[in-house]
Amino acid sequence: MSYRTEEVAYVQPAQPAASALAAQATQQRSTAEYRALDAAHHIHPFSDMGSLNRSGSRVIVKAQGVYLWDSEGNKVIDGMAGLWCVNVGYGREELADAAYKQMLELPYYNTFFKTTHPPVIELSALLAELAPEAFNHFFYCNSGSEGNDTVLRIVHQYWATQGKHSKKFVISRKNGYHGSTIAGGTLGGMGYMHEQMPSKVENIVHIDQPYFFGEAQGNLTPEEFALARAQQLEAKILEIGADNVAAFIGEPFQGAGGVIFPASTYWPEIQRICRKYDILLVADEVIGGFGRTGEWFAHQHFGFEPDLITLAKGLTSGYVPMGAVGLHDRVAKAIIENGDFNHGLTYSGHPVAAAVAVANLKLLRDEKIVDRVKNDTGPYFQKQLRETFANHPIIGEISGTGLVAGLQLAQDPKARKRFANGGDVGTICRDFCFNGNLIMRATGDRMLLSPPLVINKLEIDEIVSKAKKAIDATAQQLGIS
Ligand SMILES: *Cc1c(COP(=O)(O)O)cnc(C)c1O
Repeated sequence: MSYRTEEVAYVQPAQPAASALAAQATQQRSTAEYRALDAAHHIHPFSDMGSLNRSGSRVIVKAQGVYLWDSEGNKVIDGMAGLWCVNVGYGREELADAAYKQMLELPYYNTFFKTTHPPVIELSALLAELAPEAFNHFFYCNSGSEGNDTVLRIVHQYWATQGKHSKKFVISRKNGYHGSTIAGGTLGGMGYMHEQMPSKVENIVHIDQPYFFGEAQGNLTPEEFALARAQQLEAKILEIGADNVAAFIGEPFQGAGGVIFPASTYWPEIQRICRKYDILLVADEVIGGFGRTGEWFAHQHFGFEPDLITLAKGLTSGYVPMGAVGLHDRVAKAIIENGDFNHGLTYSGHPVAAAVAVANLKLLRDEKIVDRVKNDTGPYFQKQLRETFANHPIIGEISGTGLVAGLQLAQDPKARKRFANGGDVGTICRDFCFNGNLIMRATGDRMLLSPPLVINKLEIDEIVSKAKKAIDATAQQLGIS
């Protein structure tokens, strides 16, 4: 292959065959063909490829609203909004139009060298309007993981501008999830990820999570337990020395870790400790942001004020990749007034992603989707789940608010006794859901729901009744009734 392209005559690209054109319009391959090619060439994230290739993937070919269709023509209700991200639901033409128009107008331009463009300007102004008052500045990237990498860079730069160069440690939590880049994976508290990482980012340490059902001992109330877990932050700061601690990061509620909702005592105490020792407080809002709890941001639900927020997923409803970090005015000021910030990505503020994000946020706002989650569909979803699974023989607790919920599978719900092989039980239940055309995720022994925010009450009923069937079938298979 020659790199001297100027000597190569231009060759007209071959016209795609009629069959290939048709294949683009509709599904052309059989499920078996798709599976064979997938197994031959595609490595999936977070998967055991040997076993997946033996069983074969489900091929998802289209989607509309809260429904997916697979290559066998099965209609599946998506209880997870993709991966917690398709907040406005599938098939919204407004987002497709925004992308199409932007691709023709200006498909790409960078923002590194004294240039900017209308979509990133509009998005920044709109985010400043929608975010809490003190958040007026945004830095862009392509994912939540990159957002948290960016957080580390901002935190470090912030303390450098304050002359506090020893503030380097970041405290995070076990079973937190902050992405899968090296920094995101290190910040996260997933042991199985740490084990496979070649090295970790320095100066990141973890405290225990506020997981009452799984980890509370004795007769502590949820409030007392949450307070004790928050106070581990203070103990850790004192151990490391406040002069060495830069930030604490946490998801307002843990998503991938099992939809773990801390009791109301947790976040106010975390905030008090961060203020007391002059430590930045970072809320990873990648799942909680953009309406999931019925507030625009989950930290508003819990009533605290972070210094930085990480955004992704619902920012574009997953239609195109985009992440961002929002900076509180006091942090933004320090970054803006102190010279070069040496961080950026080729696609920071990508015009197509920004245009889609603007269209997405306008739908969430103008169709009052977030309001509906707060006042109508969210309370209904929570009530239906709690009523349906009250006194269920293998449901230990239901956590969540708005349109996110975690269902704890338990051997003995009243005694808070978990299954010895909880992960297996979760997988059994997940498979029953899958076969019943409901997407519900299992994290260990917790079943997770996080449907598109546009879901209506009939569709909520369908999710709840399908979940009930799957959980009943799981109990039956275990011989528990
Ligand atoms: C998904 C997620 C991330 C990582 O986002 P990616 O876009 O997958 O990199 C980070 N934080 C939280 C809380 C998440 O749920």
